[in-house]
Amino acid sequence: MTKFLQAVDIKKEYRLGEVTVNALKGVSFEINEAELIVILGPSGSGKSTMLNILGGIETASSGDIFFKGESLDWKNQKALTRYRRKNIGFVFQFYNLLPGLTALENIELSAELSEAPLDAKELLGEVGLADRENHFPNRLSGGEQQRIAIARALCKNPEILLCDEPTGALDSSTGIQVLKLLAQFCRTYRKT
Ligand code: ADP
Ligand code: MG
Repeated sequence: MTKFLQAVDIKKEYRLGEVTVNALKGVSFEINEAELIVILGPSGSGKSTMLNILGGIETASSGDIFFKGESLDWKNQKALTRYRRKNIGFVFQFYNLLPGLTALENIELSAELSEAPLDAKELLGEVGLADRENHFPNRLSGGEQQRIAIARALCKNPEILLCDEPTGALDSSTGIQVLKLLAQFCRTYRKT
């Protein structure tokens, strides 16, 4: 059976003048479809770098990422953009909602990137914020903004959600709510 998502011996070096930072020193793993994986490690251990490579935002110095058996072509920016646009949803630590758009508009925006988007209003309800449709991000709490950001990432209906410290800016009980929401979407929508 073809593996869903596979990293093989991923290395990433950042060269800054004389100095070389080895951010990833040969990372390999496999992720099954609809699996929820948590990567833990100290600051600077390469978590963001790894996520960005998985998502086609950054390229590796060597190694391969296979998605459904096909390797990402690091040299082909167009192909990487296509891969990212079709398959990947991102959630960031600081939400990155557009301040001039309402909660619903922020979610709808990502639908426009997709050929088969999910219903934005329905998602707003599923993250428990149906009554905040017309609110701007600065009128929402951190936890609420992150729930909108998750709905936005999901709305374009990607196969993979990559979340970089999605609870990093939240208190622990709000963080747990956000993780529960991600776990729920992983199950109900079969997202990885
Ligand atoms: P984490 O997300 O686990 O905190 P990162 O992936 O952000 O770790 O960083 C891994 C290492 O790579 C760190 O030493 C960091 O300083 C370095 N690094 C990350 N991005 C760059 C960059 N664009 N240029 C140079 N060094 C970088
Ligand atoms: Mg990081």
